[in-house]
Amino acid sequence: MNPTSIATVSLSGDLAEKLQAIAAAGFDGVEVFENDFLTFDGSPRDVGRMIGDLGLKITAFQPFRDFEGTPEPLRARGFARAQRKFEVMNELGADLMLICSNVSPQSLGGIDRAAADLRELGEMAERYGLRVGFEALAWGRHVNDYRDAWEIVRRADHARIGVILDSFHTLARNSPLGPIASIPGERIFLVQLADAPKLDMDVLSWSRHFRCFPGQGDLAVADFVKAVQSTGYAGPLSHEIFNDQFRAGSARRLATDGMRSLIALADQTRSSLPPRADVQGVEFIEFALDEDTADDLAALFAALGFRRTGTHLSKSVTRWSQGAINLVLNTEKDGFAQSHAIMHGPGVCAIGLEVGDVAAAMARARGLRIAAFEQPVAPGEMRIPAIRGVGGSLLYFTQAEGEFGHVWEREFIAEGADAASGAPLLQSVDHISQSMDYEEMLSWLLFYTALFDLARIPQTAIADPAGLVESRPMVSADGSLRFVLNGSQATRTLSSRFVSEHFGSGVQHIAFSAPDIFAAVQAMRAAGLSFLDIPANYYEDLEARHGLAPDFIDSLREHHILYDRDGEAEFLQVYSHVFAQRFFFEIVERRGGYAGFGAVNAPVRLAAQAREARPVTVPRPLRD
Ligand code: MG
Ligand code: MG
Repeated sequence: MNPTSIATVSLSGDLAEKLQAIAAAGFDGVEVFENDFLTFDGSPRDVGRMIGDLGLKITAFQPFRDFEGTPEPLRARGFARAQRKFEVMNELGADLMLICSNVSPQSLGGIDRAAADLRELGEMAERYGLRVGFEALAWGRHVNDYRDAWEIVRRADHARIGVILDSFHTLARNSPLGPIASIPGERIFLVQLADAPKLDMDVLSWSRHFRCFPGQGDLAVADFVKAVQSTGYAGPLSHEIFNDQFRAGSARRLATDGMRSLIALADQTRSSLPPRADVQGVEFIEFALDEDTADDLAALFAALGFRRTGTHLSKSVTRWSQGAINLVLNTEKDGFAQSHAIMHGPGVCAIGLEVGDVAAAMARARGLRIAAFEQPVAPGEMRIPAIRGVGGSLLYFTQAEGEFGHVWEREFIAEGADAASGAPLLQSVDHISQSMDYEEMLSWLLFYTALFDLARIPQTAIADPAGLVESRPMVSADGSLRFVLNGSQATRTLSSRFVSEHFGSGVQHIAFSAPDIFAAVQAMRAAGLSFLDIPANYYEDLEARHGLAPDFIDSLREHHILYDRDGEAEFLQVYSHVFAQRFFFEIVERRGGYAGFGAVNAPVRLAAQAREARPVTVPRPLRD
């Protein structure tokens, strides 16, 4: 793996906070942004010492702008500015200055003119014992392609002058990657990495606000890195991310994400970890709550068609099953579940995933620096490997056979096996929806997709009556695992209120698949359940939009079912009321391979839930 580095501009906080976060995440080096340096109260030597004491190297000092190809007297002024920077760099202990291509309208074109300027600068750099790297900005006035930047460096023909490659500037312009291979690796002084979501906007705004870590966007960063590796380049791979979400986030979390991104990228280009875990299905979903609330939730499970099928050998834990779904109710008085319930109120504290190889999944998680979870187990009790997930919840790994298999037989006393006769109303977990602070969404996107074999579905913005909610699904190829991440910058949306009233991120709803959604709703109603009210206007609009048969529309209305269609594929969905102001269930039926989540219906659902939301009267859990 190349040395790892990150630019200070990528993180929030003051320079000291950024550097501490970067060191804690295990980076080898740091690009010092001049602005972070200028706003810091300390001499260049102090800053240099602080960086050295943290065990970090300075990868580059940047940016130096609008230098090459300027007419006099600007040209002389450019050299004077450079000299001043070189003096600062000597005190700081930085050996590489980054020059980005000139954007000034006063600059003049001409590859030889630029090469001559850089050669002369190379002479000055030599006197200071420094190097200079030249980078093409995608919006440079005359130089906006790395191939031109390299040609200028080649003609400058000075050992102190090299080229800097940046994945964003290269990929944003769709520059071909092939020619990178013809640059000698030792003439590449630095390689900067950034990804970005595909957005149709001007390149400058796109770069300044929407860059993200590789693995969080849509650019072919792994292909770029492979091209760089073909040159023999052995220098640092350095994140240079400008992103509004990052500026609002925690420096520690972002630095950890940055390291995870580099590890995942190295794995993509050189397979250094076990493969992304192939999830075969959701083995269980565990709820932590107190006994009173647990009785209510058990009643809700029963009305949804679940049967109590087991009691834990030693703990106050029960198993509820239907089809391939297992729900676990945990009312233990100590241990992880109880502390989760105290911190977050009643809700999902853990999700169990069946994978092909538990040991490999745990090894990959470890490689990605994802924290494992351990808690003491009683003698004879099974230790199920787990990692920390969203909002401090756990992800357990099980497998069909072997050491980590047969969890139910080994941990639970089976009961009521004959009660679950007849066809189940619900068959499997269709998707799990988690709400989080908007700033955390990219972190969890990277977490899930680096660890699991999940494809990212484009993000959609959904209108909640109180603002926009961003929704980001991730799905496995066969649909055995679907997570949906939700976050909102508006504070009163249902998604944001979930996070603020829930003391953090977590599972907001679970969708189960039904073989026959109409039959399921009828049976559940007969068991005393009612469903979220949907306004009549919705069904009238549905009739106009899809030209469905009137009696089918009547049936949807009568069952409170929402409908969507994609070509011939159809999607039917119905929602429970919100339980304990915390979470709710959805029942879906996918017909003809429908792959989405009914995003078109989400505003209707959110408005209906907003109407139902009572003022918060449930006593809030204490935060310790
Ligand atoms: Mg750059
Ligand atoms: Mg849903």
